[in-house]
Amino acid sequence: MNVFQIICLPLPTLLLGLSLAGGLRAQTLPLAENLINLNSTIGEELLIESQARQDYLPLSIQFVTQRNGAYCGVASMVMVLNALSVPAPETPGIAKYNTFTQDNFFNAKAREVITPEIVSRQGMTLAELGGLLESYPVTAQVYHGGDVTLTEFRNLVVKNLQEPNNFVLVNYLRKTIRQEIGGHISPVAAYNQETDRFLILDVSRYKYPPVWVKAEELWQAIATIDSTSGKTRGFVLVSSQ
Ligand code: CA
Repeated sequence: MNVFQIICLPLPTLLLGLSLAGGLRAQTLPLAENLINLNSTIGEELLIESQARQDYLPLSIQFVTQRNGAYCGVASMVMVLNALSVPAPETPGIAKYNTFTQDNFFNAKAREVITPEIVSRQGMTLAELGGLLESYPVTAQVYHGGDVTLTEFRNLVVKNLQEPNNFVLVNYLRKTIRQEIGGHISPVAAYNQETDRFLILDVSRYKYPPVWVKAEELWQAIATIDSTSGKTRGFVLVSSQ
């Protein structure tokens, strides 16, 4: 099992939650003090005061939970393709309506990049994330964490978050931001200048809430080596062609 595989794997015993009134309550993992839960008084204030939150609403409307432990990249791409209104295949089980889901994402062109069977076993690298996106009519600019300074990273991502109709996916090592534990992929939805924090809409919603993370910590987390590719993780800027 490589590092990526460890990533999104669910922790069933922790996820089952507390037994209340004969039922079960969803229970995400606790956050370390370096992270701020979006669903808190401070977290909400950071969003309201953000001057780079163009992507928050379109992404939150499309927010999905990854359907298995290795599908963080697929769930993230589904959100972005739907937010960009990319022409989509028929929705599985719902005739006449077209939208991307984690079940119809892999068309023939995407399967030439990597198959869903392999992704289900081991996730995907940053390059595969970019390649899969470009199997659809979008432009994906891939940046490896080891190739950008903190200032470059912050400037590129903030600029995107101030613009409509383009989005940021980030591929980072959870451990670096003090989460459990491996590589992960999710969309970035906003930036708060006063606290220098980015908002990650974490697609493993059974595991963690959306969090505000310091730009420097996220930059450190994308500059980690993915053992599958031997290269650093990073981020992808996605826009319509
Ligand atoms: Ca944007």
